[in-house]
Amino acid sequence: MTDAVSSPDPAVLPIDGTVEEFPVHRIYCVGRNYAAHAVEMGHDPDREAPFFFQKNPDNLVTGDSFTYPALSNDVQHEIELVVALKSGGSDIPAAQANECVFGYAVGLDMTRRDLQGEMKRQGRPWEIGKAFEQSAPCSPIMPVSRIGHPSSGAICLEKNGASCQSGDLSQMIWKVPEIITELSRYFLLTPGDLIFTGTPSGVGPVERGDALHGTIEGVGVLTVTVA
Ligand code: MN
Repeated sequence: MTDAVSSPDPAVLPIDGTVEEFPVHRIYCVGRNYAAHAVEMGHDPDREAPFFFQKNPDNLVTGDSFTYPALSNDVQHEIELVVALKSGGSDIPAAQANECVFGYAVGLDMTRRDLQGEMKRQGRPWEIGKAFEQSAPCSPIMPVSRIGHPSSGAICLEKNGASCQSGDLSQMIWKVPEIITELSRYFLLTPGDLIFTGTPSGVGPVERGDALHGTIEGVGVLTVTVA
């Protein structure tokens, strides 16, 4: 059989320290998974649990440049720990969830905040605010075989050399195993899936020319210039 149309190659992420690549299946994202970020967005973390949305695999950016998207005047950065799955399933018990993880990376959940806000007000889906071209810059994946499963450690973002986001992985409301368990109740998790696990407080706008430098202790570094 031959394809009727020619479509782009599937998305892949580099894996630190090897020539192998990680083939990306789906991208899940967790909303409001750090209490301080939920508060800065006007929500009460004691009353509202985190939740899920998705981006598209081809929204990933693996280079050092993020192109400012069309139709927004308020594009914001969200630094996040990214989980890369090597296995999946449905109804995965929390005690077995870490066994599904291939590795971890540093990601940016870039957000057209003005469009997301308008969709929230209208009770409509978030795709135009979240799942646009280049909306998911991501570092190479650091395998579990080298770093284990980080449950604490600083997660920070600098913009033009000044600290803007700063938190700790231990502040996540849903920890990584809980996220995998919860997601697997709703979706069939699959090798190649990525999970953006939510952002600490300090989100804010970017402008063309800004240099973003994200670090997660024990995981890696992501440097992106806004083009
Ligand atoms: Mn986010």
